[in-house]
Amino acid sequence: MTKPNSPPVDTLIIGSGLAGLSAAKKLSSKGLNVVVIDKGRGVGGRLAARRIGEAVFDNGAQFFTARSEKFQACVNQWIKAGVAEQWYKSYPGQPNGHPRYRGVPTMASIAKHLAKEQTHLQSTRAQSLCHDGCLWRVQLESKKIIEARSVIITSPVPQALELLNQGDTQLPSPILERLQKIQYESCIAVMAVLDGPTNLPDPGALALEQGPIAWISDNAKKGVSPIPAITIHASGNYSAAHFSHDRLAVGRELIEKARPLFGDANVIDFQVHGWLYSKPIITDNDACLLVSDGLKMPPLVLAGDAFAGPRFEGAVLSGWSAAGQLQDIL
Ligand SMILES: Cc1cc2nc3c(=O)[nH]c(=O)nc-3n(C[C@H](O)[C@H](O)[C@H](O)COP(=O)(O)OP(=O)(O)OC[C@H]3O[C@@H](n4cnc5c(N)ncnc54)[C@H](O)[C@@H]3O)c2cc1C
Repeated sequence: MTKPNSPPVDTLIIGSGLAGLSAAKKLSSKGLNVVVIDKGRGVGGRLAARRIGEAVFDNGAQFFTARSEKFQACVNQWIKAGVAEQWYKSYPGQPNGHPRYRGVPTMASIAKHLAKEQTHLQSTRAQSLCHDGCLWRVQLESKKIIEARSVIITSPVPQALELLNQGDTQLPSPILERLQKIQYESCIAVMAVLDGPTNLPDPGALALEQGPIAWISDNAKKGVSPIPAITIHASGNYSAAHFSHDRLAVGRELIEKARPLFGDANVIDFQVHGWLYSKPIITDNDACLLVSDGLKMPPLVLAGDAFAGPRFEGAVLSGWSAAGQLQDIL
């Protein structure tokens, strides 16, 4: 096997999404040597923003709520730092709900804020994970090896299991069965540039209960894009049925179906993105899973939105919980 390129780190975190960055921040504040790696070019994972020419889109998560006090306190700090703000509280004609917050200017800004002062290596894909009883050895796609005293994996759970499988790291059947119960829905996202404003009422977004479209938002009204630009998210059922179809044809079909919602404006350009693991629909009951508990392996924790609740807030809480587990061991 190839030799590691540098001395072991205290914790290697796979994934620079919300869970990974939240865990990294907590652990490094305790003086631990933490490295975060991610296969994506930018930080944020499912908090993705995208550009088409001058148009800017929130492509993944659209907003978040804060239901726990400790997360609300964290949101308040982001608002102070200028990277988040309240977007809206309700749709027209609906009673007020939990405030919906957004990243400023895009959802990805929150991840960029969390990533400050963290060592994170982007475009760095982990390929396999194995251990010698003391240290984890994470082989990268580049064939480099990173050694770590502990690992947190925050990728969607099927991808985490694949990494362990590639390294021939066996998990006991009860843990494996528990993790295999976790399921995600997929989502096809269309980002379209328009030649004029939409007629979507304030706050510039609609969640639909039925039909092929689950969500449509106006990125210009939201304050994300300087020119008219909409994001359409297909429903879980539609996305599952069309995931392997020709993406441009699916994009055109969704635009046609959404057309009554954006008025007289015409689409002048569009792109389509498929999120295979968009949101968990079956989650685990714990805030994270210390997989190595009672096993002859160095500390390994699985975290992410499949654990502490299937959304933005859950991902952050799960990252914090994973950090807490390791702090007690390392
Ligand atoms: C279309 C869509 C709409 C959504 N809308 C909302 C919403 O409105 N409100 C809300 O609260 N939530 C929403 N969500 C869910 C929310 O985005 C997620 O719950 C949250 O971002 C998950 O964060 P995470 O850190 O758990 O996972 P991720 O953000 O998925 O982070 C995991 C990271 O691991 C990386 N990774 C995976 N495998 C490897 C590997 N082998 N090597 C290196 N890196 C790897 C990935 O690149 C990724 O960056 C939405 C999600 C999607 C996709």
